Amino acid sequence: MLTCQQLAEVVTDYLEGKMNFADRMMFQLHVGMCKHCRAYLNQMKQTVELVAATGKIEAEPMPDDVQAELMHRFRNWKTNKQ
Ligand SMILES: [Zn+2]
Repeated sequence: MLTCQQLAEVVTDYLEGKMNFADRMMFQLHVGMCKHCRAYLNQMKQTVELVAATGKIEAEPMPDDVQAELMHRFRNWKTNKQ
């Protein structure tokens, strides 16, 4: 079973579709039972969608390394809060 901390660490992998089937099931099982992680996942989804929407508005798409840096910061932000 995933802990909330472990879930926070892999949430970007989940949103980017990088997880294998078994990890995905574990992730969804935890989110289904944990309202804190459900709220966190929704927040991350909105952030990712915002980043994606901002990328569409800009003439140039956001470079992958910039997006990776943003994701890294969001991850640290969550870690620092705990
Ligand atoms: Zn949780």
